[in-house]
Amino acid sequence: LSPLEAAVVTSISLDTLPKLATGKVRELYTVDETTLLFVASDRISAYDVVMGNGVPSKGILLTLLSAHWFQLLPALVPNLRTHFLTLALPLEIPPSGVAALRNRSMQVRRLKIFPIEAIVRGYITGSAWKEYKRCGTVHTIPIPAGLQESQAFPQGAIYTPSTKAEAGQNDENISPQRAAEIVGPKYAGKIESLAIAIYEAARDYASARGIIIADTKFEFGLDEETDELVLIDEVLTPDSSRFWPADRYVVGMEQESFDKQYLRDWLVREGLKGKEGVSMPEAVVKETAEKYREAFEKLTGSRLEDVLEVES
Ligand code: ATP
Ligand code: MG
Repeated sequence: LSPLEAAVVTSISLDTLPKLATGKVRELYTVDETTLLFVASDRISAYDVVMGNGVPSKGILLTLLSAHWFQLLPALVPNLRTHFLTLALPLEIPPSGVAALRNRSMQVRRLKIFPIEAIVRGYITGSAWKEYKRCGTVHTIPIPAGLQESQAFPQGAIYTPSTKAEAGQNDENISPQRAAEIVGPKYAGKIESLAIAIYEAARDYASARGIIIADTKFEFGLDEETDELVLIDEVLTPDSSRFWPADRYVVGMEQESFDKQYLRDWLVREGLKGKEGVSMPEAVVKETAEKYREAFEKLTGSRLEDVLEVES
């Protein structure tokens, strides 16, 4: 059975490594003092709430797309450090657990994490567009008047951080000044400029492949030994970014996208936004799975089935 045909994985069970944390999508296990196992399930969240059912192969796709960027970005962004170590499973995984974890797990460096989401926006959409229409600002940053929905920011990509909310709470958009208070003045400017540099490199790479990265969210950790910033978490996936097909981009309206937008729109239409335990109908699951797959294939130039690890 191909890993892509296996059952939807909404819960991960692994009892040979201590569990460090459970996020909305991932489980983190401790491998040793400096290494974690970062496992992506097929769970999907929207508006900070996890859906009752999952999207087949989504965890595999997110893991392999993040790995693609982790391997590519250091060549495009000078001095970029990342937490990625390997897609290989640690030796502690029993043979019976390998099939369930392979392709959806990566070993990463364990780091002290900065408790903000480093969001970068190249185009005005979503909550940023709402705030702009109301106040003329985005995360309190003044923005020139007269922008249309989905237009690129004329001054270039902007850094619009948010808080990293505790489980059950919503992330809150904050000003760069507030983010600097949270992470401290020593790191605030570095996080901002690194986030923008990564976004710009990825934007140019994606644009050559027919995808507009409208916005994205990064997380950073600190290597306390070298005092260096490290790019952590997932990177530039449809869960952490808005991807738009470049050939259908029309300014002045909402864009069709490769990402969760289909699910978000359905939730809003049905009045289910923010409700716990909502199960997606089959059509929403299928559409979402297809969008994720399309984004993966466009960005990596490979079909998902061609990059899976199948050997033990
Ligand atoms: P939350 O963590 O708030 O539940 P989430 O849905 O984004 O939100 P997941 O993506 O499911 O969470 O889980 C990943 C978690 O692992 C994130 O909280 C992220 O900050 C954390 N994380 C990512 N990389 C590392 C790392 N190298 N060291 C420690 N923690 C990490
Ligand atoms: Mg996450």
